[in-house]
Amino acid sequence: MRRRRGGRDVHELSVAQAIVESLGRHEALAGGARVLAVTVRVGALSGVVPAALRFAWGPATEGTFAAGSRLDLEEVPLAVWCPACRAERELPAFPRFACPACGAPTPEILRGRELEILSMEIEDSAASPLPRTEGQERQGSRRQRPT
Ligand SMILES: [Zn+2]
Repeated sequence: MRRRRGGRDVHELSVAQAIVESLGRHEALAGGARVLAVTVRVGALSGVVPAALRFAWGPATEGTFAAGSRLDLEEVPLAVWCPACRAERELPAFPRFACPACGAPTPEILRGRELEILSMEIEDSAASPLPRTEGQERQGSRRQRPT
């Protein structure tokens, strides 16, 4: 079976677009705030190649509230449970599902499938949610219009 060259990048581009889309639902962005940086946790088994995701970030965010933002990736190694050692073990990037200490098969995956947005950094502090205080009900709705 031949693997189409570039198929990988297309996959990461759609993952990046899905991340942007889900960030866009955040209420802090409702006032037109821009995103400066996003931190995403990527597990070794998530099916996402970190370098390709980083590469796709520019095109995926182009023309959006996250254009020009930085993508920080927190890579999570694959962790399995070894039933023989009764211990958690980390496996190398390209795993055999066997305990690196004793060689027992390790069917139970503990970590490594993650693909989650951990945090984002927003530029416009006026648009971020602020605690409402008595007599200041217009707080947070400051808006600057270019002339
Ligand atoms: Zn073991």
